[in-house]
Amino acid sequence: MKTCRRCGNKIPDRARKCPYCDLQQHAHPAVGSVAPRPKDEVKTINLKKGFPPVHEALQQMKYEIDKARSRGFRVVRLIHGYGSTGTGGKIKQAVREELAGMQHRGDVKRFVVGYDGNPGVTRVEL
Ligand SMILES: [Zn+2]
Repeated sequence: MKTCRRCGNKIPDRARKCPYCDLQQHAHPAVGSVAPRPKDEVKTINLKKGFPPVHEALQQMKYEIDKARSRGFRVVRLIHGYGSTGTGGKIKQAVREELAGMQHRGDVKRFVVGYDGNPGVTRVEL
C-alpha cells in the first residue's frame, strides 16, 4: 500500500488514480524528484498570513510563484485580502500592479482579481 499525497488515504501500490479523491498517481516516482502536478491542481498562497508589510507580501508572492512554477503548478490562488484602506487594501493594490508587470514581461499568463466571487482572492495562471 502507498499513501495518496493529496488526501492521505491508503491506496493499492498499482492504483493509477486515488479511489478517494481521484488524484492521478505516479507509478514509480524517482527518489528525490518532484512528481509533476496535474494541470488542475491549484496552489494556494496566503499573503495575509502574519499581516506583512506590502513589500514583504510582494517578495513572498514572487518567491512563491517561482516555487509553484518550478514544482509544476499551472495555477495559483493568491489570498491577499481586500479593503479600500488598511494593509489588506494596500496589498491587493500592490499585488495587482505587480502582476500586471509580470504579465507584461511574460512571467505569468494572466490573472483574475476577485476569483470565486471573493474580492480578496486572485487567480494567477503561470
Ligand atoms: Zn487521494
